[in-house]
Amino acid sequence: MDQVAKHPALARSGRSALSGMLGEIYQQLGLAWEFLGLQCRHWDGFRRTRKGVLACPICGKVKDAAEAWLLLPRDGRKQIGRMRLPRGKAMFPDKKTATIVSDAIDFHGAALRVDVTEQHKSSILGRAINIAEDRVARLAERGVECWVDSSLVHLRLVPRSGKDARRWTGAMVCELPRKTLRQLPVLVDFDGRGRFAGLCVFSSRPRTKRES
Ligand SMILES: [Zn+2]
Repeated sequence: MDQVAKHPALARSGRSALSGMLGEIYQQLGLAWEFLGLQCRHWDGFRRTRKGVLACPICGKVKDAAEAWLLLPRDGRKQIGRMRLPRGKAMFPDKKTATIVSDAIDFHGAALRVDVTEQHKSSILGRAINIAEDRVARLAERGVECWVDSSLVHLRLVPRSGKDARRWTGAMVCELPRKTLRQLPVLVDFDGRGRFAGLCVFSSRPRTKRES
């Protein structure tokens, strides 16, 4: 990287084809160095540099500095982050400062999103309201979305959009007429003591259809 940075073409004024190419090579080398650095376990510990910061003498990573990349094994279980939960003690002035995690991944075509926030102030139509702390995980797979937060497990098979969105409604199962109940492709699971244990929804989606 030093050799590229000290190339005489970069010292000349104005841009040339060679200086542009050297710039690109430098970027690529920087990226390669980042990935090599991710493999370093900092075996020799951190030492104080001339600038006064603690850095690994092997890869140069500054202690406690955030890493921009993740290195994941191609085979086997991948882990990104750890289970984070809100503490629920302090009230934050807005969502941005209350956010602990807001991250998403597209994993082999399935989209997963996790949002963890502390309690914070917000406003709806100009009215100030308090939003409770929460952890929300959302999985979207072939048009089906599963939403899990502190108080709800919500499964949605049809996207709520378009003109019809305002006419959507919800009801407790016991409120539904028998005629409607018969049409629901839902199996309710119970454990040995008759306690509600889960829900199975029969999807009428075609299995072989390719979706973009
Ligand atoms: Zn290191």
